[in-house]
Amino acid sequence: MNPRIQVLDPHSADQIAAGEVVERPVSVVKELVENSLDAGAKQIEITIEGNGVSLIRVHDDGSGISPEDLPQAVLRHATSKIRKIEDLDELQTLGFRGEALPSIASVSHLEIVSRPAESLIGMSLKLTGGKQDDLQEIGCPPGTTITVKDLFFNTPARRKFLKSINTEFGLISDMLGRIAMARPDVSFSLKHPKQIVFQTPGRGKLLESISSIYGQKLARQLIPLTISLDQYHLEGFISPPDLVRSTRQEETTIVNGRIIHSKLLSRAISDGYHTLIPNRLYPIIVLHLTLPPREYDVNVHPTKMEIRFQDEKILSQFITEQIRKTLLASRPIPSFERSS
Ligand code: ADP
Ligand code: MG
Repeated sequence: MNPRIQVLDPHSADQIAAGEVVERPVSVVKELVENSLDAGAKQIEITIEGNGVSLIRVHDDGSGISPEDLPQAVLRHATSKIRKIEDLDELQTLGFRGEALPSIASVSHLEIVSRPAESLIGMSLKLTGGKQDDLQEIGCPPGTTITVKDLFFNTPARRKFLKSINTEFGLISDMLGRIAMARPDVSFSLKHPKQIVFQTPGRGKLLESISSIYGQKLARQLIPLTISLDQYHLEGFISPPDLVRSTRQEETTIVNGRIIHSKLLSRAISDGYHTLIPNRLYPIIVLHLTLPPREYDVNVHPTKMEIRFQDEKILSQFITEQIRKTLLASRPIPSFERSS
């Protein structure tokens, strides 16, 4: 006889859904930092211990969560960012699904401490495996501090799949570097655990952020690119053809402040460098593309790194042409020399 069909209890459903959003420590860090950015933070401090399993802490000076709202923040599909599906057309925030906090909560020990600037007192909410342990008033500075401990403590299979400290922390550091370059107007600092891995000044200058992440020497060699055409605005820094890498690791494409992995954009960049660098070598690139939100859809994948553009052909031609022009105008093409 077939087993009966039953709706999963909410706790089990949460844990299963959490697997989509929280694959490994870097996914937690990304979600928390995106929440800080959505809250308008100007300063975000990230502390990681080991590979991120024992401790991830993100502290921001953003809008905070009001005491009445705090328990809602960890409910599934609870968000302050959209009210209805049509709002996605004009989406200004990185988050909108209301899934990150409940997902993270269900697979960790989570503490949220938050206070909006206008509130006299802060609140602390503690959960274990998604179940509330404690909710109380607490004195704290305005903003939000989220601490995630013992990640995947109740999902041993997932925990076992994690790699070494170097691998997991490397992913975190790489991701944060990209986010910092996506938002030069925000100061980011990454600590691991006592050492400061990087700190960006947050003065709105992209080259300063690049310099904090990749070092001053590299930043100095990059070529600036700025161009507006119709509804597109392209701005960033690209490496001269003699400064290349063996992977796309140092290619960051940002669409309206959101980091995007797009084959279309990567292809367009490669085409811009076509014949100037050998096959299978890649430039160092940080490109900000600004276009009306109606021109693309980010609602493709839960981690929101994918994107669909309305007018793929026009967009990729535009990018290829601008890169090409910038490279050719920058200086005579020097003889090829491999670095890295
Ligand atoms: P989403 O970001 O998709 O709305 P989350 O689960 O990530 O969903 O967060 C739920 C809600 O908690 C957010 O909509 C926001 O109102 C609040 N929140 C989370 N993190 C912060 C933060 N750092 N500062 C202020 N509010 C926050
Ligand atoms: Mg979020």
